[in-house]
Amino acid sequence: MPISAVFISIAILSCVMSVAVLGSLFGTGVPGVRLWCVASALLAVVAALLLTGTSDVAVAVSSSMLVIASLIGLHGFRQFLNTRSSYAWEYVALGAILVMLIYWTFLSPRVDARSTMISGCIAYVRFSIGAAVLKYRPRARPKYAYYFVAIAAMLGAFVHAIRSVAYGVGLAHEATFLQPTPLNVVFLGMATLTLPCLSVGMVLLAHDRLADRMERLATFDDLTGLLARRAFIARAEALVRECVDRKSTFSIAILDIDNFKSINDRYGHAAGDLALAHVASLIAQAVRATDIVGRIGGEEFALLLPAETKENAGRLINRLRDIVATSGSCVPGRDVVSTLSAGVDAFRDGDTLASVMARADAALYAAKAKGRNCVVVAPAIEPLPLEPLAQANGVRFGGKTANG
Ligand code: GH3
Ligand code: MG
Ligand code: MG
Repeated sequence: MPISAVFISIAILSCVMSVAVLGSLFGTGVPGVRLWCVASALLAVVAALLLTGTSDVAVAVSSSMLVIASLIGLHGFRQFLNTRSSYAWEYVALGAILVMLIYWTFLSPRVDARSTMISGCIAYVRFSIGAAVLKYRPRARPKYAYYFVAIAAMLGAFVHAIRSVAYGVGLAHEATFLQPTPLNVVFLGMATLTLPCLSVGMVLLAHDRLADRMERLATFDDLTGLLARRAFIARAEALVRECVDRKSTFSIAILDIDNFKSINDRYGHAAGDLALAHVASLIAQAVRATDIVGRIGGEEFALLLPAETKENAGRLINRLRDIVATSGSCVPGRDVVSTLSAGVDAFRDGDTLASVMARADAALYAAKAKGRNCVVVAPAIEPLPLEPLAQANGVRFGGKTANG
């Protein structure tokens, strides 16, 4: 079996495996996967055609399909990276390449000119893939898959560019397509190496996108866009450790929408969802960049305010309570006004996140007991049974007191 046939067989195998793996990701909706799958299938057909022989018709058809498959693959990468996916001049160039392919195959056969053109075109495609991946890679994601694809694409671009130049300036010559000259063997070997790398890279990228989605789902609450409970606790724990190391303080507030069940009962669950999202967006707008806010239960939110005393935090949360209470209806077309109650406490020596949250929660119960729509700052005494707290030292902010 000639060496070129071995390389082409490896290329077929790699493309078929890519189709199988990318096909399994069809239903995921990851942008670009379908185009990558189509491109890989076309490339498998191209390689299979070349195995059957290098007649003029086989060469013209496989070369045309190779150029089209490469462009489809490039569009797949652009879709994946969410950039502009097509340029008019590329279609014009594709038309010109197809015309010249026919001309240099059937009308005025010139094998070198054809190789120069096809390799030049593939070098452009591979370079564009590498450049786009480097330019538009999501900065928050691990770099590995993106650099892997960029290196495989750039290496492929380099190999094809050298071949194009070599045939273009007459440094190399072939009498028939893929004649086993030393340059062609090296070229085919490198192309066979970079193509599966690019295919593996596509799968790595698709998996990275899926991992990103799952991380988002685990981190953010779907309805409100705030941190979900587990993510809030994880970030808050990290901040607490920082605060302990720096010997600075922080405050925690637990906020709960008042009589939320009655909103659901009276207006339906969908209206309840809208009210929840509305209140969450008011909270998200009001907090500062350094604060951490999460939805820790059904209609319950937690805020961690770094470097704030509990009195200051109480004032900030009371302002937030006021914003929510005066924001008007939170369900379009309905008169649904939500109010919040909140409990606040600050970090003390020997505290853990859980112990501060427990005291803020107790203060929240006190706020509910005081009639709701108010903020209670936990008193500086231990322990904190509910009843004494409602009567005693706790500083109380709130609608009812403020409004008389
Ligand atoms: P309180 O003032 O004492 O907090 O009374 P409440 O009615 O707000 O509290 P309760 O715990 O009795 O009811 C909370 C309700 O929140 C019950 C639950 O069905 C509803 N809820 C929890 N999560 C969601 C959600 O995602 N969407 C909607 N629409 N309702 C939710
Ligand atoms: Mg409630
Ligand atoms: Mg609740």
